[in-house]
Amino acid sequence: MCLKARHGAIAIWYNGYAFAINKYVKYNSNRTIHAEVNVISKVPRQYQNKCIIIVWRIHVDGKLSMSKPCHKCQPYLHKKNIPIVYYSDNDGIFVKYYP
Ligand SMILES: [Zn+2]
Repeated sequence: MCLKARHGAIAIWYNGYAFAINKYVKYNSNRTIHAEVNVISKVPRQYQNKCIIIVWRIHVDGKLSMSKPCHKCQPYLHKKNIPIVYYSDNDGIFVKYYP
């Protein structure tokens, strides 16, 4: 676990929003629930294909870095029919991504 940066995600939909960060699973220290997967679990099912997810990695000094959904999260986002994800990159810009 990197103590200098946290990975977070927010989902927004018509009448609500949800926030999540990386969740470390206690029974197996190698397993994490990535923020973008964690946040989907908080979106009402009827809005999962109509929400926008914003993912970021922010360092303790406030700088953003690359947070593109990993090879495990990408198929999950696709399966859940998430239409658009914005993720932070190493230039501190949010990049639009279609899962
Ligand atoms: Zn991931």
